[in-house]
Formats: sequence, C-alpha cells, structure tokens
Amino acid sequence: MTSAAVDSQLEIVRSVAALRRLVAKWRQNGDSIAFAPTMGALHDGHMSLIHKANTVADRTVASIYVNPAQFAPHEDFSSYPRSEDDDLARLAAAGCDLAYLPDPSEMYPPGFQTSITIGEVSHGLCGASRPHFFGGVAIIVCKLLNQVAPDYAIFGEKDYQQLLVIRRMVRDLDMPVEIVGAPIVREADGLAMSSRNAYLNDAERQTAGHLNRVIASMASDLENAGDAAEITARGKDTLMHAGFSAVDYLEVRNAETLAPFLGGPVDKPARVFAAAIIGKTRLIDNWPVNPPARA
Ligand code: AMP
Repeated sequence: MTSAAVDSQLEIVRSVAALRRLVAKWRQNGDSIAFAPTMGALHDGHMSLIHKANTVADRTVASIYVNPAQFAPHEDFSSYPRSEDDDLARLAAAGCDLAYLPDPSEMYPPGFQTSITIGEVSHGLCGASRPHFFGGVAIIVCKLLNQVAPDYAIFGEKDYQQLLVIRRMVRDLDMPVEIVGAPIVREADGLAMSSRNAYLNDAERQTAGHLNRVIASMASDLENAGDAAEITARGKDTLMHAGFSAVDYLEVRNAETLAPFLGGPVDKPARVFAAAIIGKTRLIDNWPVNPPARA
C-alpha cells in the first residue's frame, strides 16, 4: 500500500510513484504546490511552515524523513525523536494535504553514489563543526524537491545557514522552485523550538533559555554601534557562566553573504549566530542585527 487517507484531507504516501500521481492530479486541476521538508517530531515551529505553505499555494505537502547523511557516526541519528502518529495528526489538523514519508530505499537506492558540494556559504558556523552536514542536507533536499516538484519550498530561519545553502543550490542548479523563509518560533522564555529540546532535563532547560537572551542582547549592543569582537567575547563568557558546557560558535555575520564581522561596529544587516552545548545537547539559534543608517 502506498497511499491512504487518515481523514478527509491528509493523504499519506511512502513512494515517489504515489507522490507523483497525487501531485500530477492536483497540477491537472491547476493547483499550485508548497512543500515543507522536516525530520518529524513536529512542534509549533514546523507547523508555522505548514501554515505558511497553506497561505502561498493551493496544496501543501510535508515530508518526514530523518536523513542519515546529515548525521556523523557520533551524532544522534538513532536516538533522534520519532513520533509518526502524532506528527500525522498534527499535519491533518493543520490542513496539510499530503504527508510524504519516503521509504529509505526511495532516498538511497542500491548503488547510490551522487553527492552535492556547496561552496563558501556552507563553510564556517555549522559547516565547520559538522563537516558532513550541508552535503547531507543538500543531497536530500535536492532529491525531495525533484520528487515533489513544488512551486514553493518553505524553510525556517531557525536553520539560517541551511536556508542560505538551499537558496544557493536552487539558484546554481536552476531548480524551478521559490525558496521561502519563515521566522523562528520560540517558547515562552524565547528558547527557539527544536525537536532536540526534548533531550534537555529540567536544569538544562533552564540554562537553554539563556541562549536567546544572550544573542538578543548582543544584537541590541551591535545596533548601538558596539565593537563586534568585544561583544562576542562578552557573550561567550555570559553563556559559560549561565551553565553551558561549551560554546561551539558565537559569531556575527552578514545576513546575506555570511561574511564574518570580526571587529568594529556592524554597518550592514547582520545576524548573531550561536551553537552551544548543554550536557549532550547542541542547540543553535540566531538573531537579526539591523544597524541604523549612520552618517
Ligand atoms: P527539522 O525537522 O529540524 O529538520 O526542521 C525542518 C524545518 O523546520 C526546517 O526548515 C527548520 O528550519 C524548520 N524549523 C525547525 N524549528 C523551527 C522553529 N523553531 N521555527 C521555525 N522553523 C523551524
């Protein structure tokens, strides 16, 4: 069985053939398609992508696939949270039309031997600490976009470097899809929602809430013409005092090109990017810096 309806709306498919049949039927009716790829364990951040998709196109497709190629052997692929039934219920309730849960053999057929390498925009930040990561993301997103063939694909700014990497790939490979960014959805204390927040115990969860406050305060100091190097050094100290075990990176970079601001005041739209570790959990977040025009 490749296709079934769980309620009046949501179709569930696990093969490329079944996916293409449904999408072709919608295309024949003149419907446009928006697509949100996910790794499941869906939370309100993911659901914001579904809502966005619903507003930009007639039909919404979501995928759930935990992609082994973007995890290094020491990372959390086998323990990554999986909650298929809950995820499907959430997608149905949000008015998603199709959930694509590809069988692993669809993504990596026997003999698979193709890779995609993205240049400069994938270097540094998460690309430095997870060298396998963006190659894994690029190949899977390229395949998913070829399989679904949507008009729009929605990606969260939570993974800001990933959003820029995908934009670059789509432009460079002439892929006929518009990439749409969606703002970060946060918990009440500002912690960016993430499937990995489920790993945090109560004490770690308290500490985690400092990450967004530190980068927001850095962004505000940068907007007030503070020195990027000093602000970054202070931010690292604050995170370590707040109880993080390590700061993987804390950097200020150009919002469009990701070129680093190493010192002095920031004079162009930028972002503070952070990855910090609490116990065994690595959290990422980013915050916009919009300096006023200065004479
Ligand atoms: P993931 O399941 O973590 O691979 O994420 C799937 C998509 O959801 C990516 O485009 C993420 O950027 C996006 N996403 C994850 N968390 C959030 C969040 N808190 N706010 C907005 N988008 C998010």
